[in-house]
Amino acid sequence: MAETADIVVIGAGAIGCAVARRLAKARRRVVVLDRGQPGGEASSAAAGILAAQGEGHEGPFLDLCLRSRAQFPALVGELEAETGMDVGYSACGLLEVALSEDEDRRLPARAAEQAGRKLPVERLDAGSVRRLEPGLSPSVRGGLLFAEEAAVDPARFSLALARAASAAGALLLPETPVARILSDGPRVGGVRLASGEEIHSEVVVNAAGSWASFGGDLPILLPVRPAKGQMLALEAARHPFSRPVLGAKTYLVPRPEGRLLVGATVEDVGFDKSVTAEGVLSLLAGAIAIAPGLRGARLLETWAGLRPRTPDGWPVLGEAGVPGLYAAAGHFRNGILLAPATAEILAGLILDGRSPVPLGPFRADRFAARSGAA
Ligand SMILES: Cc1cc2nc3c(=O)[nH]c(=O)nc-3n(C[C@H](O)[C@H](O)[C@H](O)COP(=O)(O)OP(=O)(O)OC[C@H]3O[C@@H](n4cnc5c(N)ncnc54)[C@H](O)[C@@H]3O)c2cc1C
Repeated sequence: MAETADIVVIGAGAIGCAVARRLAKARRRVVVLDRGQPGGEASSAAAGILAAQGEGHEGPFLDLCLRSRAQFPALVGELEAETGMDVGYSACGLLEVALSEDEDRRLPARAAEQAGRKLPVERLDAGSVRRLEPGLSPSVRGGLLFAEEAAVDPARFSLALARAASAAGALLLPETPVARILSDGPRVGGVRLASGEEIHSEVVVNAAGSWASFGGDLPILLPVRPAKGQMLALEAARHPFSRPVLGAKTYLVPRPEGRLLVGATVEDVGFDKSVTAEGVLSLLAGAIAIAPGLRGARLLETWAGLRPRTPDGWPVLGEAGVPGLYAAAGHFRNGILLAPATAEILAGLILDGRSPVPLGPFRADRFAARSGAA
């Protein structure tokens, strides 16, 4: 066990490992601690859609998502070189479909908004949508094609980030829960583990996902709560779709290995990860409404994960109130997409003292400011 480090990262999900990799490549002594296994929580439960445009994000958050999406091709190449792993990246685009008149009426405004920002988007009528994806329901009214969206296998991506961080020299310690963040006078001093041992460091990065609100000697409680997402996988031997398909409530993600992922519920039920009858029912009903041919598909697997959600749905990035303590948490539905830009930002702050993007909208203290507290 290391007693000191330059930087301690709490949490070995996609976010913690992406940050650790960047810092270790800059030759800092990095220790990454996880109470379970690297990537074992939300990061492996995700669908892996890299939807910068398709989820209707706006303002600085849209900019952050686009920036991160643009970094994927280079990062995927680097991860392959560093670990030999194929992370299942595909620049496949994303198709949003409308199944009712009401949903279809909203599409032109969404297309205009994206086109106004010079982002590639194509408005499709019902016939064009079904020519593109013949497996879709005949009741599809129209759609939007986002040609530059992409997808990745989130579990392989997270594992590759963990292996690349190790290969760059980071010490990854699984099954090592952190109990407290320690102070050293006015700044951060390291962490105390559940075992009672301490690791001292001048920099601590809190990348603990849905658990990032845990306290310590420091009065910094990040307002992150879990948002449960249930998903399932169907057998899809005939590759029914060429790209992820987004409906109003349900999405379908084809995987090259012949599985079709169906996601996802968004539930405020604390740290409960159970798969429920109602959750599975809503996913299957949504999937069959989009593609009736799935009625006979074999159900392969169900699971649930906890998305780290902040009150406004945007992540908390940057120094968190105390010198040396950084937050990289609260990525909600977009933590796989945002892993590259988060790592870039945290590395910029910790190594050079400045972020490559303005962090005002993502600061930890924005919630206190909103509620009028000091
Ligand atoms: C069903 C579902 C579908 C999703 N689909 C997508 C998608 O298509 N695209 C996308 O971009 N995002 C998606 N997401 C969101 C994405 O999964 C998350 O935003 C992302 O994984 C968050 O990464 P993280 O590293 O912050 O959290 P996590 O992966 O949860 O990692 C946090 C880690 O911290 C560890 N930890 C917690 N507390 C402690 C402690 N005290 N000591 C030590 N370690 C600790 C945990 O064990 C965990 O491994 C989805 C999420 C879900 C649940």
